[in-house]
Amino acid sequence: MIPGTGRRLIKKFFFDANDGIIQVMETIIRKIDKNQIDETVINEAGGLLKAGRLVAFPTETVYGLGADALQEEAAKRTYAAKGRPSDNPLIIHIADYEDLKKIAVNIPPQTDMLAAHFWPGPLTMIFEKSENVPYGTTGGLDTVAVRMPSDPVAQALIRAAGGFVSAPSANTSGRPSPTTAQHVAEDLGGKIDMILDGGSVDIGLESTILDMTVSPPMILRPGAITAEMFEKVIGPVDTDRTLLDADSKQAPKAPGMKYRHYAPKARLMIVEGDIREEILAIRQLAYAAHREGGKVGIIATSETLPFYNYGIVKNAGTRENEKTIARSLYRVLREFDEEDVDTIYSESFAVQGLGNAIMNRLEKAAGHETIRAAEIVKLQKYRRIIFVSSSDCARGPMAAELLRHRDLKQEYVIDSRGLVVLFPEPVNQKAEAIMRSAQMTLGDHTSQKFDGANIQEDTLILAVGESQKQKLLAEYSGLKNVYTLNEFTGDDGEIPNPYGGALAAYGECFEALDRLTDRLADKLNSFTEEE
Ligand code: AMP
Ligand code: MG
Repeated sequence: MIPGTGRRLIKKFFFDANDGIIQVMETIIRKIDKNQIDETVINEAGGLLKAGRLVAFPTETVYGLGADALQEEAAKRTYAAKGRPSDNPLIIHIADYEDLKKIAVNIPPQTDMLAAHFWPGPLTMIFEKSENVPYGTTGGLDTVAVRMPSDPVAQALIRAAGGFVSAPSANTSGRPSPTTAQHVAEDLGGKIDMILDGGSVDIGLESTILDMTVSPPMILRPGAITAEMFEKVIGPVDTDRTLLDADSKQAPKAPGMKYRHYAPKARLMIVEGDIREEILAIRQLAYAAHREGGKVGIIATSETLPFYNYGIVKNAGTRENEKTIARSLYRVLREFDEEDVDTIYSESFAVQGLGNAIMNRLEKAAGHETIRAAEIVKLQKYRRIIFVSSSDCARGPMAAELLRHRDLKQEYVIDSRGLVVLFPEPVNQKAEAIMRSAQMTLGDHTSQKFDGANIQEDTLILAVGESQKQKLLAEYSGLKNVYTLNEFTGDDGEIPNPYGGALAAYGECFEALDRLTDRLADKLNSFTEEE
């Protein structure tokens, strides 16, 4: 902050691509409260726009990079600051409905109804352009995209600038769109004249684009206003086929959709399946990457966050309210650019309502790379291993801890349980002493009774002896994957029961378990190699 002025400046040297000289630009950052708009700030910003300069401002969708839409030169500056190809047209923002007639011609009658319902708001409509609109703004097209934002700061600025403000998202081309003034400053600080900081945006994804030059109107980009919402107002609308069909060779009708937008630095892949499969698949992928020394990021939700043990996990919001996910998506993608991750796995979201827009942006960020969760999940046969002994005080917990120390190619939940446990007891002290002599500990394990419920197909149950196995089969009908540890590892010996014996008896038991868990690890690891 510059003392006494309430202004913050970002200075940057940059290379101007047009005339090849090094320039210095100061970006003024001004805070603005949409509930109490400071007219002095708005007039200052409006004056800059009228002079052909660039001002970034908040809208309800994302931050926009404003320029006077009727000045060709201002459009050129916009493209230069964003590093955006100039055949990618800009959306003109208006604040008053009557102004539409000044920039569009042959406006179809349905427009009134749509505007009455959705303007001001996150809807962009495409019309034939009037002569007032320079080709620089429309990327050479004879059509013009128009939106009336609902954010009061945006409205005040548009009026102060003369009524027509072109505004693409205020990010560097190819980066996630900005949802805070900080994001804008990261990308465009030193390259534009001013940033109005109005805090975080509400929606977080760009507007829905509806082409009004065709009948019925066609959705070119999904957003917060959905096909179902249009339908209630004007009847059926079409959707650009290239949006539905990722492999389409055809160019999308909204030119901007052809560029690989919103791309994070790391490789992003979307894991698709039902949510349980997605979690399991991402767990497997994250564990495998961790084991190979890779750094993984995970895009998860409040509901699924606790399931991940490896990788940098970020919460995109709650599945109960998709608005929270729309609002956080770009922030999360940007945050991953600051993290040292080489791969990001994302859960997927239902393609319904707002989910359409969320998945559309996520797929673009991922360059349409998806992984079928079921294909990954089927590669892992067991996910949970339970060692069963009589009292869960010595052999079971020892086997479990020994296995946890093995190099396992897949992630397992490793537990031990007892057949006769009346109340929780700490582990046998001699068992603990032997474990400690091998630099391990049973810690504060307390015995737990085996419970036949919650046993899934992917649980492997390993009894420490034949009698425990028989008891399990007799007491719990329908149990699958029950073996003795010896049997499962192809060993014809038995694990000695140390109960009541001297320390040496526990030592012998340890030796046997050590050998068997080593074989067990090999066997478990071999399951991945078979596939
Ligand atoms: P942005 O400003 O980044 O939110 O993106 C603006 C996008 O609106 C462009 O990239 C195009 O996809 C779309 N658009 C703008 N004008 C037109 C137009 N005349 N016809 C079709 N799509 C347009
Ligand atoms: Mg954009």
